Amino acid sequence: MQLYNTRTKKQEQFQPLKKEVGMYTCGPTVYNYAHVGNLRSFLTADVLKRVLQYLGYEVKQVMNITDVGHLTSDADSGEDKMLKGAEREHLTVWDIAKKYTKAFMHDIERLNIAKPDVLPVATEHIKDMIVFIQQLEEKGFTYEGGGNIYFDTSKFPQYADFAKLPSIEDAQERVEADTNKKHPRDFVLWFTKSKFEEQEMKWDSPWGEGYPGWHIECSVMSTKYLGEQFDIHTGGIDHIQVHHTNEVAQSECCTGKHPWVRFWVHTEFLRIGSDKMAKSGENFITLQTLIDKGYDAMHYRYFTYTAHYRQALSFTWESLDAAKNAYERLKKKVLTFKQSANEEGTTQQYEDKFKATLEDDMNMPNALAVVWEMMDDPAVGEKKRLDTLKKFDKVLGLRVAYMEEEKVDVPEEIQQLMNEREQARKEKDFTKADEIRDSLLSKGFILEDSDDGVKVRKK
Ligand code: AMP
Ligand code: ZN
Repeated sequence: MQLYNTRTKKQEQFQPLKKEVGMYTCGPTVYNYAHVGNLRSFLTADVLKRVLQYLGYEVKQVMNITDVGHLTSDADSGEDKMLKGAEREHLTVWDIAKKYTKAFMHDIERLNIAKPDVLPVATEHIKDMIVFIQQLEEKGFTYEGGGNIYFDTSKFPQYADFAKLPSIEDAQERVEADTNKKHPRDFVLWFTKSKFEEQEMKWDSPWGEGYPGWHIECSVMSTKYLGEQFDIHTGGIDHIQVHHTNEVAQSECCTGKHPWVRFWVHTEFLRIGSDKMAKSGENFITLQTLIDKGYDAMHYRYFTYTAHYRQALSFTWESLDAAKNAYERLKKKVLTFKQSANEEGTTQQYEDKFKATLEDDMNMPNALAVVWEMMDDPAVGEKKRLDTLKKFDKVLGLRVAYMEEEKVDVPEEIQQLMNEREQARKEKDFTKADEIRDSLLSKGFILEDSDDGVKVRKK
């Protein structure tokens, strides 16, 4: 498989280190609902896992749950996210974490995102983080400043390579209010003093009571469950410059092994207008928002396949509608094909093409094109096409096997009209039958005449 690697900035042949592919996904910060942009990045990770399994690999996926209060800005500034959530909802930070972890699990289940094999929670790994920081300290990569422990980026000359960061002189990066830092890009490993004296989440440590910096949890939990070196790390592109750059620095300095992670897979933004979708403001659309408006989680899943994961995808209601229509068209075909026992012809050429699109850096728009080409090929029996689609669905995750005719609650008045129409048809009064059909349509019910009688759907 060819996979684009952020670390080397090129597409490369994927080869796992050992039999089982080790994959780490930067998980959600549970201070609010995930928005559909966040979910796009988790869908990419899910598809990648499914593609690897389709190609015959075993995969172990670890995804963290960030429940420690980290800051709204990646660069150790801004407000504490968990505290902000707690104040907003008059709950404790622990209850906020519980509430939004549950909501996240519900979202991924609805989107048919396979549950990661290990889901470590940051607050349950504080001891491991302390040990990790102590190792960095012993190796001389840290310093103390104003009560906090910092990572000294000047001790890691390759620091800027991962994200191809400009030199500090050119970057004009602000030396923020934190005057304890020796270099602007240094970052906190352990806070004992911060502007949040009232921090609810704090733990004892060799440096005093406090809490970990944001980046350390991912280095610690990934290496704990996947080893000191592993195959794939995923996340959104916003994490490349700070979070992932810092993860690489502290991991490689701690273990002395390079590269820590072989392949870095980053998902481009879901945009709304010209902005990235974000957890605040009007741009905040959750999966539940879509469901409340009558969409199915699968419509959104299908929608994300309309762009390559390395392309920005613009969210508009029109494009979501287009995805919904395409998905419903597919569903209709599936339901029709379910009636058939025709296995004539072959779908081998489609299976080959489908696999090739996956091996080409997970090109899901092309994979969808193959699906449609196959589904529309009259030379192949319906049952054969459906069986092949079910195979493809191991990657697509569109719940093809479970597609069912929606059960429609037919009110008595509608049933009465349907009976009258049936009677009119029997009497060959087609004008009257059509009038009744139109009147049903205006009431929101669509009639379809099929071989097994009249079926009714909601508009
Ligand atoms: P967070 O819960 O804020 O840590 O974000 C979870 C994941 O969503 C991270 O991998 C982010 O990089 C990713 N992400 C954030 N905003 C977007 C967006 N608008 N589009 C796609 N991915 C995003
Ligand atoms: Zn992370």
